[in-house]
Amino acid sequence: MEYFFQEFSGFHGTLVKPYYWLYHSQHCSRCPYHIRTGEESRVTYGEFYQAFGFPYGPTNPENKQLTFYEIKDFTGRVLQKGHATNCNSCNIHVESILFEEHGYLDFNLYCHQSVGYLTLYSNYTPCDEYAHCCATKMNDFLIRYPQIRMDIYFSQLYHVDENNPSSLWNREALRTLAGHWSRVTVNPISNRIWQTILYDFVREVPAATLHQPILPARASADSYNAYMIHLITGVKPYFVDVPPEPKAPVVVHRQDFPTVNANHISVPQPQHGSYPYIPVLGPSVPIRPVPIPAYHGGHIGIRSKPKQVVRHLNMPTDRNQETDLEVFLPNARKMNEVVVTEKVVKKKGKDKREKKKKKKRERS
Ligand SMILES: [Zn+2]
Ligand SMILES: [Zn+2]
Repeated sequence: MEYFFQEFSGFHGTLVKPYYWLYHSQHCSRCPYHIRTGEESRVTYGEFYQAFGFPYGPTNPENKQLTFYEIKDFTGRVLQKGHATNCNSCNIHVESILFEEHGYLDFNLYCHQSVGYLTLYSNYTPCDEYAHCCATKMNDFLIRYPQIRMDIYFSQLYHVDENNPSSLWNREALRTLAGHWSRVTVNPISNRIWQTILYDFVREVPAATLHQPILPARASADSYNAYMIHLITGVKPYFVDVPPEPKAPVVVHRQDFPTVNANHISVPQPQHGSYPYIPVLGPSVPIRPVPIPAYHGGHIGIRSKPKQVVRHLNMPTDRNQETDLEVFLPNARKMNEVVVTEKVVKKKGKDKREKKKKKKRERS
């Protein structure tokens, strides 16, 4: 059997030149080595993010295909792992490079009779467009090797929107591949599969990324992929839905309290740090006092609710009830009530003079 490819040993794993007529090209950064194998062939985290849209959600890199693969024997032992990229210079898709008859995978299966499993992690689903016929080549490969089981994981669907002129072919191709179930599965990447890819195929991964939960935008895209691939193929994929993260507590800003200066008020802090509504402010920033819950020793397990106290500053007073103003208002002064009686006195004098005149008239 005659094969197309050539292999070279390099710093970044084994470099595979899939076609003898491929050469370095300024239009394709990966030419001519579109397959790289071995532990050293890991891609950078930046390249992974750009192609797969992890962790922040889909990036839709139209001209960039990246597929990681694992070849395993019947016991599940990994015989080889690596990745393949498309060629922008010659317009060749990843699946064509890998699954071409007399191509690289053909050679591997010829050399390793014990190959039982092939796993692909691709940023796009395979197409079956006229210039490529990727899915047809994969289908032919599955027919040539009936003992092989293949699991395909993808992060984005390729050209299956109804508006795309190739969507009918591509959808039909996915149905054909999924029709090999249970030998073949077509699944969206989800949940722990993302971590598996990071651990096995990517370098320079931030430590936090390996342990953080799947972000909502990514989880939402994975869920959509699961729905669509089920809709297109009629086969339920392997998919682990990620529950939504609990929402952060909402800080309520009270508006019905007067503004005071922080220099003149001390806000007690909760002793157990479990009350989330106390803002942390600098000393010169005006703050609004809020009711602070009381924390009592011996009741640590019970979270006391804040009590809302309503103060009526202008209390209606009972005239018959004596009120001690010094107690109610600390700086109040007592005031004496003054009754003006001048007019009354004058009136009394006037009445006496009129009585004297009346007596005089009676005498005369
Ligand atoms: Zn190329
Ligand atoms: Zn294709």
